Amino acid sequence: MNRCSQWTPSQFIMDEKNVPIRTYQVCNVLEPNQNNWLRTDWIPRSGAQRVYVEVKFTLRDCNSLPGVTGTCKETFNLYYHESNEDRESYIKESSFIKVDTVAADESFTQVDVGDRIMKLNTEVRDVKVTTRKGFYLAFQDVGACIALVSVRVFYKTCPLTIRNLATFPDTVTGADTSSLVEVRGSCVNQSEEREEPKMYCGADGEWLVPIGGCLCNPGYQEKSGTCKACSVGFYKAKSSDPGCSKCPPHSHSVRDGATVCDCHSGFFRADSDPPSMACTQPPSAPQQLISVVNETSVVLEWAPPRRLGGRSDTSYSLECLICQTGSSGSHLCLPCGSDVLFSPGQTGLKTTRVVVSELRAHTHYTFIVHAHNGVSQASGAGAAQSVSVTLTTNQAAPSPVSFIQATDVTRHSLSLAWQQPDRPNGVILEYEVKFYEKDQRERSYRIMRTFSRSVDVTGLNPLTVYVFHVRARTAAGYGEFSAPFEFSTNSDPFPLIGEGVNSAFLLLSISGVGILLLISAAVFIISRRRSKYSKTKQDSEEEKHLNPGVKIYVDPFTYEDPDQAIHEFAKEIDVSSIHIERVIGMGEFGEVCSGRLRVQGKREIYVAIKSLKAGYSDKQRRDFLSEASIMGQFDHPNIIRLEGVVTRCKPLMIITEYMENGSLDAFLRKHDGQFTVIQLVGMLRGIASGMKYLSDMSYVHRDLAARNILVNSNLVCKVSDFGLSRVLEDDPEAAYTTRIPIRWTAPEAIAYRKFTTASDVWSYGIVMWEVVSYGERPYWDMNNQDVIKAMEEGYRLPAPMDCPVVLHQLMLDCWERERAERPTFSQILNMLDKLIRNPGTLRRTGGDRPTATMLESGVGSEVCVSVVPQVCMPEWSMCVWLQSIGLERYRDTLAAAGYTSLDSLLALTHQ
Ligand code: AMP
Repeated sequence: MNRCSQWTPSQFIMDEKNVPIRTYQVCNVLEPNQNNWLRTDWIPRSGAQRVYVEVKFTLRDCNSLPGVTGTCKETFNLYYHESNEDRESYIKESSFIKVDTVAADESFTQVDVGDRIMKLNTEVRDVKVTTRKGFYLAFQDVGACIALVSVRVFYKTCPLTIRNLATFPDTVTGADTSSLVEVRGSCVNQSEEREEPKMYCGADGEWLVPIGGCLCNPGYQEKSGTCKACSVGFYKAKSSDPGCSKCPPHSHSVRDGATVCDCHSGFFRADSDPPSMACTQPPSAPQQLISVVNETSVVLEWAPPRRLGGRSDTSYSLECLICQTGSSGSHLCLPCGSDVLFSPGQTGLKTTRVVVSELRAHTHYTFIVHAHNGVSQASGAGAAQSVSVTLTTNQAAPSPVSFIQATDVTRHSLSLAWQQPDRPNGVILEYEVKFYEKDQRERSYRIMRTFSRSVDVTGLNPLTVYVFHVRARTAAGYGEFSAPFEFSTNSDPFPLIGEGVNSAFLLLSISGVGILLLISAAVFIISRRRSKYSKTKQDSEEEKHLNPGVKIYVDPFTYEDPDQAIHEFAKEIDVSSIHIERVIGMGEFGEVCSGRLRVQGKREIYVAIKSLKAGYSDKQRRDFLSEASIMGQFDHPNIIRLEGVVTRCKPLMIITEYMENGSLDAFLRKHDGQFTVIQLVGMLRGIASGMKYLSDMSYVHRDLAARNILVNSNLVCKVSDFGLSRVLEDDPEAAYTTRIPIRWTAPEAIAYRKFTTASDVWSYGIVMWEVVSYGERPYWDMNNQDVIKAMEEGYRLPAPMDCPVVLHQLMLDCWERERAERPTFSQILNMLDKLIRNPGTLRRTGGDRPTATMLESGVGSEVCVSVVPQVCMPEWSMCVWLQSIGLERYRDTLAAAGYTSLDSLLALTHQ
């Protein structure tokens, strides 16, 4: 202490415990205005922010001092001064800051500082010292009688401690009495933080609010605030585990601090097994594997393994091998491949039964059933856990065709293609296509068979949804039908393939054929002989006979006002005279219905009514009516007759004569093989006659095909569908490539749109082929490109089955590359007439049924499965019948010879 003024160090005196002490005293109680300072040495702060000053002192009671006046005091003042200087020699009074005025708790009643024992006062004051490295303390006496016995200066810390396995260091308390010092603890050895360990050091040096803490590492557990290793035979897997545990069954630990116990040899632990779980073993092999083969499916069943290895997670997997024995007797097994189906699965099976399907027919298979559990992999388990069976599959039908696509769609046809079944199970011999109108369900369906994976289905109704199923056939029989695939025909008036209509037809009986032959013979005798068709001569004769005046067709599109054309060529019908009965088809512009028409003063007739569906454009209206404008110009027994139109109210309608048997191609398909050659020739003759009429009128049809020929109940064929020329006119570019009916069209028309009567003749040749082959599709399922190529290379359709050589020759004539070389319709007509007159010439056919090579080259055949109506001979008059076969002009000749009834004709002999 630095003494100044009146403070004096004393002799040693005894404190209350009789310990000799030394003091600083001052006692100037008799003199006024005392100001005696006693200062300490510099005290380093040592990081403390608040220091405590404990002062022990004695103080005389003024009253106990004899003769003392008002100058006596009983207190002193405590000051401090912060400083970085540890040796300040002089500090001004004013530099000190007062801490407090200190008074004695106990004062002496007697003053005796000599040999007497004193009573000590202890007072503690605290001071915040934060600004300098250290400080000085000073005691100011203002006239008291004091003896400073001791001054103790200290600061407080929260002592080093371990709480929740975290060590907290010795920490100096904060500057303020209310402040807490936040302290982060550090985890003790072999421990890790569970959550950041934290505590607060209070001003009094006590630790407050412990937060977070640490956990002993795996292999260690807590003991008295430290982490101790687990001993041998024990383990601790996770730090969060409460303590070390005994090793589970079939495991052990050989060192201290084990985190997991090792499995005994022969025992295993799966990755997913907890360390607390006993070590286990793989299962033994499945038992009693049995197999039941059903064609190309196998049912495998087995019993669970005898030993499950102490686990409950047994599962099974199947190995499938195709095994072959080589020529050397060696056994070669290969995996089955991905197309084999396992139900419920091939691996991870929990059940003991699997159905294996989609196997190859007649094949040796080996199936191995493996049993697994969670430790199979760890144990490297192999053949010991499996059981196998070897078997041979049976013959089986092909699997279903899985996908059918439409490659070409028109108004009356659909071209379909499909992939081979996934599992043919042998060589596919043919495909069967079953189809029906969606609305009809399967009440009436058709079947087509083909050797290729595509087919052209013709004779469909426009804008109609059809349902198709395809199935394949092998030596083992038919497979299942494919799922239904729906395709709709559209309204494209340019069908690239044939068309057909299902309708009933009254077939001519054998006697009818006989009559026809007799008629022919009679005609042959009566009329003058004609050996061959000679082009020029006969042309002119026919023309004179049928077309005395030359009438030329007028293109309705040359009229600026389409209504003018329609009213010029078609009769307006009052809608009230039409009675619609039922829908019979779908045309490009809307429904086609049948019904009755009763025009005043005329008998009621059956009619077909084509209507233009609502929402049409001007162009559609014009196109729709143009067909009527064209048709209305024609008047011929083999051209469909226009009855009239309805244009003054909606919907617009075109009324034509009703053709009971619908389209020729479908009609023929429906009655495949049911007609005599003469009947077929009769049909062809009618068509040729109609076409001759059209060509005489300079009308080029452009779309002559069996699908566009309608057949009435008397077997009379009439040319219809006068739409194509119009559309080609409208749509020169697009139509040229996409809408031409390639199979029916002459090469020059395909190549450079040279549509002439000669190109119609080419088409007529195709119609001949269609008729003689009962509606077969020309060029079968060849694609259009191939057809064109084949034509260029000189290929021509072969004679259909049972086709008379002369008819095929006529076809070939129609298919002359040079169009000038082709016969005219007039010549064709003459030729056919000649054939009818000479039925013997029709007897020679080119061969029997199609050869195997033809079939293999992709000939599709169609089988009609719908019920054919009862055939009966209609009650025809001689006249009607002659008309129906196009020989009506011989009526008079026959009548003159006495043949006026069909009965009399039956009696006609060759002579
Ligand atoms: P179209 O628009 O001319 O192709 O005719 C559509 C469908 O109606 C075809 O399937 C024809 O068979 C049928 N059809 C068209 N006109 C007649 C008719 N005059 N008599 C009977 N059926 C017809």
